[in-house]
Amino acid sequence: MILVSACLAGVACRYDGKANTQEKIVQLVNEGKAMAVCPEVLGGLETPRASCEQVVDEQGHIRIMNIEGEDCTETFEKGAEITCQIAQLISADMAILKQRSPSCGCGKVYDGHFRGQLIEGDGLAAQKLKSLGIRVLSEEDLDTI
Ligand code: SF4
Repeated sequence: MILVSACLAGVACRYDGKANTQEKIVQLVNEGKAMAVCPEVLGGLETPRASCEQVVDEQGHIRIMNIEGEDCTETFEKGAEITCQIAQLISADMAILKQRSPSCGCGKVYDGHFRGQLIEGDGLAAQKLKSLGIRVLSEEDLDTI
């Protein structure tokens, strides 16, 4: 079973109330081969919501801040934890997640200054899924699947 970002499956759960629909992901869900989850909604955030990015604090820890300066780290960690619980419940061996998200990003995330600049890194949910041994890809890898 594959875990996928809900916004890739057509769910309008992005921070701006939109989706990032990828027809191949929709097809996987419709065929019963994939389950769609949104870590940020699972963590308790509303849609739409203020955009968030990862920042590294003075102690070197990753924090998730929204564009209004509020620390949302706990909510994101809760969402990532629930996402991992679901992944384990469905015995997911792969996840296809939305690139660049502070939750779902896989290899690239925004740099924390809300200026559209990318740095290397994974979103919190992607990090935790990888730590469980789950293969994590992004929609940019769809052609390789
Ligand atoms: Fe999509 Fe993941 Fe952001 Fe939810 S948390 S909107 S699934 S990228």
